[in-house]
Amino acid sequence: MKTPIRVAVTGAAGNIGYALLFRLAAGDCYGPDQPIILQLVEIPPAMKALEGVCMELSDAAFPLLHGIETADNPHDGFKGANQIFLVGARPRSKGMERADLIQANGAIFTDQGKAIEAGAADDVRAVVVGNPCNTNALICASNAKGVAAGRITAMTRLDQNRAVSQLASKTGCLATDIKRMAIWGNHSPTMYPDFYNATIKGQAVTELADEAWLQGDFVTTVAKRGAAIIEARGASSAASAASAAVDHMATLWHGTAEGDWASMAVPSRGEYGIPEGLMFSFPVTIKDGAYTIVEGVSHGEFADKKIAATRDELLKERDVVKDLL
Ligand code: NDP
Repeated sequence: MKTPIRVAVTGAAGNIGYALLFRLAAGDCYGPDQPIILQLVEIPPAMKALEGVCMELSDAAFPLLHGIETADNPHDGFKGANQIFLVGARPRSKGMERADLIQANGAIFTDQGKAIEAGAADDVRAVVVGNPCNTNALICASNAKGVAAGRITAMTRLDQNRAVSQLASKTGCLATDIKRMAIWGNHSPTMYPDFYNATIKGQAVTELADEAWLQGDFVTTVAKRGAAIIEARGASSAASAASAAVDHMATLWHGTAEGDWASMAVPSRGEYGIPEGLMFSFPVTIKDGAYTIVEGVSHGEFADKKIAATRDELLKERDVVKDLL
C-alpha cells in the first residue's frame, strides 16, 4: 500500500461535494492502491452539515480512506494538501448580474489562492469546479504566484463528457470509441466542442454524423445541457459534475491514453492566438503529472468564429476582476 495523499475539497457539504467525496474515498480517482486523507473545507454555517457527511463517510468504512479532517477556512484546510478540488462557490442569487457573481467569487478565490501558496504541498494540483470556473481559476492562480504555472486548472471535462455522450448516442457507438473530443474556451454556453477534430473508431466524426446537426443541435445541446437538467430534475447537475471532476484529476494523475486528448482550462502561453495568461480550455496530453497543450490543431471558419467568441467572453470576465490579478 502506498503512502496516503492529502486531498482537500471545498464546498464539501454541498451537492457536488456529496457525490464527489464517496467517489474519491472509493478509489475512483487515484486507484485501488492509493489511500487518501480527506481535508474537507466548508464555510462556518455549513460545518454542522459537514459533520453529517463525515459520519456517513466513516460509516462506509472505505479501506482507502485513512483519515478525515475538517476546516472552516482554506488556510487550515489546504495545509499539506497534494490534490485540491475547489468546488465551493457563491451561487448566483436572484437579480445578480454575471459581473456581480464574478466579483463575489473573486474574494473567495483570492483567499484560496493565498492559502494554496502558503500551505499546500510542493506537488499540489488544484482543479476549480465552482463557477465561473475559468475566471475563478485565473484569480486563484494570480494569488498563488509562488505555485508553478499550470498547477491550478479549471474543469471543462463535464462539457467534454457531455459531447462524447451526445455523439455516442447519435452514432450508436460507445463512449470509449470516441477520441480527441476537445472543448475550447470558457466553461459557459460559449464554449466550443470541436467535433471536426474528434474521431469515432478512428474515423472523422463528420463522416458519421450530419454536419448541419453537428454545427447546430449538437453544439447547442452540449452548451445548454446544464439548464436542461435543471428543467428535468428540478435541481442542477451534481453527480455528473462530480464524476467529471474525478475524471479531470484522474487524468492528471494517471495521464492520457496514447493518441487521446483531454480538455482542461489552463493558462495560455499564447497558443492559437489566445492572450497569454487567460485560463482557456485546450486539448492537452498528460504524462508524469504534467500537461502539454496540443499544438497544430487546424480549425476552419466555423471553429475560428466560435473560439473568438469564447475568447472575447473570457477577456471581458478578466477585465471585471483585473484588480484581483
Ligand atoms: P453545488 O455543489 O451544486 O455547486 C458548487 C459549484 O460548482 C457551483 O459554483 C456550481 O456552479 C459549480 N458547478 C460546476 N459545474 C457544475 C455543474 N455541471 N452542475 C452544477 N454545478 C456546477 O452547490 P451547493 O450550493 O450544493 O454547494 C456549495 C457548497 O459550497 C455549500 O456547501 C456552501 O456552503 C459552500 N460554499 C463555500 C464557499 C467558500 O468556499 N467560501 C462560498 C459559498 C459556498 P453554478 O452555481 O453555476 O451551478
